[in-house]
Amino acid sequence: MIVMKFGGTSVEDAQAITRAAGIVKARLPQKPVVVVSAIAKVTDQLLAMARAAGAGDRDTALKVSRGLRERHYNVAGELLGTGIFTQFHSELEADFDALDELLRGIAAVGELTPRTSDHVASYGELLSSKIVTAAFSARGLDASMVDSRQCIVTDSTHMRAAPLFEDTNQRLQSTLPPLLADNRVPVMGGFIGATKAGVTTTIGRGGSDFSAAIVGAGLGAERIEIWTDVDGMLTTDPNLCPEAKRIKVISFDEAAELAYFGARVLHPATVLPAVQKNIPVYILNSRNPSCEGTRITTRAPHCRNIFKAIAVKKRITIVDVAAPRMLLAHGFLKAIFEAFDRHRVPVDVVSTSEVSVSLTVDSNESIPALAADLAKLADVKYEGRKAIVCLVGDNLRETPGVAGRVFAELADVKIRMISQGASEINLTFVIEEDAVPGVVQRLHKTFFSDLDPEVFA
Ligand code: ADP
Ligand code: ASP
Ligand code: MG
Repeated sequence: MIVMKFGGTSVEDAQAITRAAGIVKARLPQKPVVVVSAIAKVTDQLLAMARAAGAGDRDTALKVSRGLRERHYNVAGELLGTGIFTQFHSELEADFDALDELLRGIAAVGELTPRTSDHVASYGELLSSKIVTAAFSARGLDASMVDSRQCIVTDSTHMRAAPLFEDTNQRLQSTLPPLLADNRVPVMGGFIGATKAGVTTTIGRGGSDFSAAIVGAGLGAERIEIWTDVDGMLTTDPNLCPEAKRIKVISFDEAAELAYFGARVLHPATVLPAVQKNIPVYILNSRNPSCEGTRITTRAPHCRNIFKAIAVKKRITIVDVAAPRMLLAHGFLKAIFEAFDRHRVPVDVVSTSEVSVSLTVDSNESIPALAADLAKLADVKYEGRKAIVCLVGDNLRETPGVAGRVFAELADVKIRMISQGASEINLTFVIEEDAVPGVVQRLHKTFFSDLDPEVFA
């Protein structure tokens, strides 16, 4: 069997869902399990209405919800035709009524907990998986919707719950193989799961890729296909640099590094369950299904180029912690990291000197409280509007002088932090957010003009 995951843009409207049905049909002999994201942008809207309700603004929440209802009805209506849609309509209606009820409840309390936020967010994948199942069935596929909350068992860390693999694998194995044996096409929503007690959870933004990998690993899939809206993993974000080229093959380590540092084409955790089981992952374009896409393999292929890609992560804040009177005091770093841990703020890049530590974190609302906490230990400054640029390539391990070449190219750019990752395959630095397009385009021109045809298309 194989797993085919369709991202938000690959199910964004009736046309996209019809394309997806065709792509799945062509793979029927390989016994696909389909994992779908919410329709494009729907998760953002669900979270926005949950926040509005949490702030007590019931009217805004319900207004956004009406728009969302309309959009889903339109997509389903266009896909199903009047006959089937009439029956199906009442099912969608019940879901949206329940969602509105939930929003009214949140607004009445005036507080949004992570648990309720997950409940609201789960409607995106719940609705898309229902609509996709109905649309596939109407197109001659014997599709069965499987509620992911019955299969993906997680802990109760709401908004970024971790899967409990043993329980999950058991449930996947008892639910999906019987359907496949019956020549059915199971359709599951990505991103969502439930605790053992049955409380709805989500596994982190962009998490449908992770869901696909969990399902693929749990069932020992032959391959996992991530269907998206670009030809595969590209040498950099095509929105930043239109000259970006397709990477034909890349290693799991390289892909994970790129994903972590902002290439949102793939969720960072995706690769893990797949790597452990040695399952190949492909990134493919649902708008151009004949393109070979990108193959992600265990071992990096031989490549003439030093780098495979440039990733960028924006909306970064640098936190500088300086402790003039505590020169290398024992336990100082520990105390700093404990503060980050207490505020649950993950750190990306770290650089230290004798008297100070600089760390980067995703800009978020916990930073002022974290800074106040850190101020008890040392002098603290923080500054937003930064970006992490990360060059990734397996050849970085063996090639001397690479940093010199990169920074010579950027002699006029203000570089705030530099780190050559412990993984030995990335060179990472922090710049002002405004400088990103220019820096990426220059680096792309220098390092990606003459490409190894074995690795790049
Ligand atoms: P999906 O909805 O299918 O999950 P995403 O929006 O999460 O799709 O990811 C695909 C997008 O990732 C692309 O449209 C592209 O804009 C962006 N992207 C960023 N970096 C890269 C990269 N290196 N290669 C390909 N796409 C990238
Ligand atoms: N719909 C979820 C999100 O937007 C999960 C996903 O699309 O991967 O984060
Ligand atoms: Mg995605």
